[in-house]
Amino acid sequence: MVTDVVPELLENIQRDFNAAIRRSVKLQRIQEMIENGTATYKQANEYAIEVGEALARTFQVYIKSETLPDGKMYYNIAERVLNPTLRNNHIIVAQVSSQIQEQLNRSVGLGLRGIEPPVNQLRIDSIINRVVAEEEFDKVAWILQEPIVNFTQSVVDDTIKTNVEFQGESGLGPRIMRSAHGNPPCDWCRSMEGVYKYPDVPEGVYKRHDRCRCVVEYYPGDSEEIRRQNVWSKEWSGN
Ligand SMILES: [Zn+2]
Repeated sequence: MVTDVVPELLENIQRDFNAAIRRSVKLQRIQEMIENGTATYKQANEYAIEVGEALARTFQVYIKSETLPDGKMYYNIAERVLNPTLRNNHIIVAQVSSQIQEQLNRSVGLGLRGIEPPVNQLRIDSIINRVVAEEEFDKVAWILQEPIVNFTQSVVDDTIKTNVEFQGESGLGPRIMRSAHGNPPCDWCRSMEGVYKYPDVPEGVYKRHDRCRCVVEYYPGDSEEIRRQNVWSKEWSGN
C-alpha cells in the first residue's frame, strides 16, 4: 500500500509557517502600525513579502523529490498542499490590506469599509499545473519559491484594485500611485510608474513580474476635493 504523504507534509508546513509568522519582528512592527493607524500600502506590501517568503521557506524545507512518491509532484498532492496554504496566505494578507484600506478611507473622511478581494483561484491553479507538469519535482522546485511571494503580493494589489473599482463605480475619483523599486528597476516597471486616476488605470498597474518590488499605493478617493470642501466649510462656518 502506498502511504499518503500529504497529512504529514501539510502538518509540518503549517506548523513551521505559523511559528515563523508568530516570531516575525517585521510583522509585529507592521501590526503595531496598523493598530496606531500609520500603516499604508507600503506596509501591506512588506507584510505580503514576509508572509510569502515564510511559506516559500517551509516549501523549500519539506517539499523535495526525495520525499515525494517517484520524485514527482502528483496532482492530488499539489492540489491538497497548495490550495490550503495559498488560500491561507490570501486570507492573512487580504485582512491586513483591507484594514489598511479602511484606515486610508477614514483619513480623508470616507466612512467606507475596506473590501477584501476574492481568492484568485486561477493563479493558484496555474501554480499547481506548472508544478505537476515536470516528471522530476526538483526541476520545478523554483516555482514554489519566488512565484509564491509574487502570488502573496498580488493579494495586496488585488485589494487596491477591488477598492478602487468600488469607489470609482460609486462616483468617487480614487487615485493609484505606482513607484518603481529595484536596482535598477526594469524598463517595464519604469514605464508603469506614475499616478493614475480612476477610470484611467491601465490593467498593468496591478501586475508584477517575479522579484518585482515596485510599490502600488492607493490614494484615497477625491482627497483633494474633500480637503477643499473642508476648507470651504470652515470658511463658511467662520463667516
Ligand atoms: Zn517592478
